[in-house]
Amino acid sequence: MSHLALQGLLDRISVASVAAGNKQPRLLAVSKSQDSLAVMYVAAQGQRAFGENYVQEASIKRAAIIRSGATQDLEWHLIGGLQSNKCKQAAKLFDWIHSVDRQQLVSELSKHRPDGLPPLNILIQVNIDDEGSKNGCRPDEVADLADLISRSPRLALRGIMVIPQPHEQIEARRPAFKHAKALFEDMRSKFSQVDTLSMGMSNDFELAIEEGSTMIRVGSALFGPRARR
Ligand SMILES: *Cc1c(COP(=O)(O)O)cnc(C)c1O
Repeated sequence: MSHLALQGLLDRISVASVAAGNKQPRLLAVSKSQDSLAVMYVAAQGQRAFGENYVQEASIKRAAIIRSGATQDLEWHLIGGLQSNKCKQAAKLFDWIHSVDRQQLVSELSKHRPDGLPPLNILIQVNIDDEGSKNGCRPDEVADLADLISRSPRLALRGIMVIPQPHEQIEARRPAFKHAKALFEDMRSKFSQVDTLSMGMSNDFELAIEEGSTMIRVGSALFGPRARR
């Protein structure tokens, strides 16, 4: 990756936010399939929040970074689908989980979040329009899940995450973003601590910013293309 990639991306985010008249979203640097050196390189330029799809991969990477002594103060977000048998490990490793989509995950994460750590920040992943995806709850399931999370010890309900159907025409993703924003505003009106709408990736973050995203998840536009797993 180029040493200019982060600054160039931050510039694009600023421009898109100003153009939309919206507050600038937080940048989550999606480091899946990138090695720990790539993470440290971006962290050295001031980026703090990193997103990973797999618990095991994140665990190895994070241990290598801590061992190197380079940067202790990073924030780790799980953005990939979570299996219940990985909740114990995930609850210790991550600061945020974006992919909570069923009750079982809520009780497992709550049970396993260590007492010595701050509450685990939780986003509910909602399947807005992608029939092809197994991940995400239905929009009509959000209210009950939000309620459960808000009552669970050691968890902090923060908002919603969506991945719209990957229409090639970026503009065709707009209705899904609008729907997500409406669900987010509804949740925010009920729970004062809710402040995060995680939507937008490398090829659609500018549209997501127009539609009110507060956190964008960007991988390839920052690190370059990923090797296939
Ligand atoms: C991989 C991934 C991203 C980042 O994708 P890019 O297109 O590389 O920016 C964002 N969110 C989720 C859930 C992902 O799995």
